[in-house]
Amino acid sequence: MIVNYRMRAIAVSFLVVSTLSFAQSKSAISPESRTERYMQSIRGNIPLLTAFLSEMPKGGDLHYHLSGGVYAETMIGWAADAKLCVETQTLQLVKPPCNEAAGNREAASALGDPVLYRRMVDAWSMRNWQTSGQSGHDHFFDTFTKFGLAGDDHAGDMLAEVAQRAALSHELYQELMFTADNGRVAAVGKQVGWIEDFKTMRETLLANGLPEAVEAGLKNIDTAEKQRDADLQCGTSKAEPGCKVTQRYVYQVLRGIPKQMVFAQILAGLEMASRDSRVVGFNLVMPEDYYVPMHDYSLHMRIIDFLKPLYPKVHISLHAGELALGLVPPDGLTFHIREAVERGHAERIGHGVDVMEEDHSIELLKEMAKRNVMVEVNLTSNDVILGVRGKEHPLAAYLKYGVPVALSTDDEGVSRSDMSREYEKAVVDQNLNYVQLKAMARTSLEHAFISGDSLWRDGHAFLRVKTCALDKPAAEKLSGSCLSYLHANQRASLQWELEKQFAEFESRW
Ligand SMILES: [Zn+2]
Repeated sequence: MIVNYRMRAIAVSFLVVSTLSFAQSKSAISPESRTERYMQSIRGNIPLLTAFLSEMPKGGDLHYHLSGGVYAETMIGWAADAKLCVETQTLQLVKPPCNEAAGNREAASALGDPVLYRRMVDAWSMRNWQTSGQSGHDHFFDTFTKFGLAGDDHAGDMLAEVAQRAALSHELYQELMFTADNGRVAAVGKQVGWIEDFKTMRETLLANGLPEAVEAGLKNIDTAEKQRDADLQCGTSKAEPGCKVTQRYVYQVLRGIPKQMVFAQILAGLEMASRDSRVVGFNLVMPEDYYVPMHDYSLHMRIIDFLKPLYPKVHISLHAGELALGLVPPDGLTFHIREAVERGHAERIGHGVDVMEEDHSIELLKEMAKRNVMVEVNLTSNDVILGVRGKEHPLAAYLKYGVPVALSTDDEGVSRSDMSREYEKAVVDQNLNYVQLKAMARTSLEHAFISGDSLWRDGHAFLRVKTCALDKPAAEKLSGSCLSYLHANQRASLQWELEKQFAEFESRW
């Protein structure tokens, strides 16, 4: 009996000690470290990693072309509804009436013709692009001309589709690039023509229809948002998750069109963003390696350098360095990112893939870190369009020199990817850990163009502002001062929401 009692006592005390030490070790390890430990334990198991990353909170997607975010299958449906025709050779949409003798058929016929349907999906996206006979670059950029007509009058439906996907990927925020005026601004630029003196050029555009075109663009955004909210049943008891995603817009300037139209569009972006807080800035888009963007690159930067001081509050992100060795002559690789930063007033750079080919590249990295210029990193896009992946990608160089970086999807519909897949690539191809992924999610909201002050007094170390320093993200109630700070600042409010999501996510492991 005594022996048994003693043994039980020893066993109980052992249990108490081991429970205590387990509790101590659990509390000694932060939820973030536990989550890191779990991710490291499954990083070789891709299916488990996929499940983990799809649940992970991701903050915002800052590099997103609206029409490129929509899946080909959706576009085929819209083309069928609009009674558009499709050229059976090129798979490009053309306006009705359809004419089989001229080589086109009703797009709707694809719905009953599996061969035409699958050819259209392949031609309008990166699905099976390797069998297209084209390079990834050419196949990618050609998709937009092929499905382009299908998107007419569907901006609101596009917003709904991409918001829904963002919500399901655990994103809170999107900045969507699109040209909201549907070409009216470019038409004003064409009609005004090129004027060498930028001041006169601006005044002439403003006196000849540019403000009206800008207003028309803003009205289009009103209409699109109404349609989005109707599609997602926002404000009703059946509201879809997409309703919770905050969307802002970046005016998309087509840098491959003639310079007078590019000038007009840059001006329109600045005007639109000054008049309406939903439009937060502008960006220059289209293949950077094409003749006009290469030829006019420095001119475009000079235009921005002239106009930007007149609109100091408007934000600028620029596609720069979406290039690779061999795609353009070597001297074309040496200056785009630097000029975008130094003359183009870019607060963020889209892609920045050829950064190490730039003149004095290490100094450039240091300069970007010093100026706090963030790079929007698009791993899938860089892989399929430029063939740059794995160790050849400059992400590790940006991280080494302290340049802020965040992952984005670029064109998730055309690329048939999503934000979770970008996170997976960051782990598998770029060898990033959980803490680095979390930093990128936080960085996305820190560098978002949404208005309002930050939750962070230090946006690198992520130290909170004093007002909210003692509040707990998991807590039900916040201090009055923190609550009013969050109400007053949209950015901080989104950032707090992200912290809440992280607190919940990290409590699981
Ligand atoms: Zn892009």
